[in-house]
Amino acid sequence: MAKGFDLTAAIRTIPDYPKPGIQFRDITTLLADADAFRGAVDALVDGHRDEQVDLVAGIEARGFILGGALAHQLSAGFVPIRKKGKLPHDTIRVAYSLEYGVDEMEMHRDAVRPGQRVLLTDDLIATGGTAEGAVKLLRELGAEIVAACFVIDLPDLGGRKRLEALGVQVRTLIA
Ligand code: IMP
Repeated sequence: MAKGFDLTAAIRTIPDYPKPGIQFRDITTLLADADAFRGAVDALVDGHRDEQVDLVAGIEARGFILGGALAHQLSAGFVPIRKKGKLPHDTIRVAYSLEYGVDEMEMHRDAVRPGQRVLLTDDLIATGGTAEGAVKLLRELGAEIVAACFVIDLPDLGGRKRLEALGVQVRTLIA
């Protein structure tokens, strides 16, 4: 990781957002800090520089920002995993669990070819419901998931264990 910055300090915590009792971890301050952004991207790709990564898959929306930078660093392509109804071509869809209720996300049916090696990314893993949905979509397309990487892990919510139980290697920078 790059020296001279504190990744944790670069993340802002917003109390009671989006609802009372939630401490929202806001990475927009990290993204606006050139050293912290570069350091986070470098640290996320570090474990994967020596292996083949064909595609980075980013989860809407902050996973797009990280995913584009990771893809560039790894000389990989980028594919978006979006909330339902946003992608223009043929899609596959999966329901995933949120803290209260369910939602659906989609990928283009032709976004990944069977056997392609994909690195999944998002800003934060909490319960792992969102990432699990993404893993299901990627596997439905025949992707081989190299790892799932996140800037922030909220370990008390169990997301890392949930992904590991699916056989996915998880990398995070801050707990
Ligand atoms: P999970 O599905 O419970 O693991 O929640 C992770 C998803 O919710 C990710 O797409 C995150 O971007 C988003 N999320 C949940 N909590 C936070 C937060 O405190 N800050 C930023 N994103 C969050």
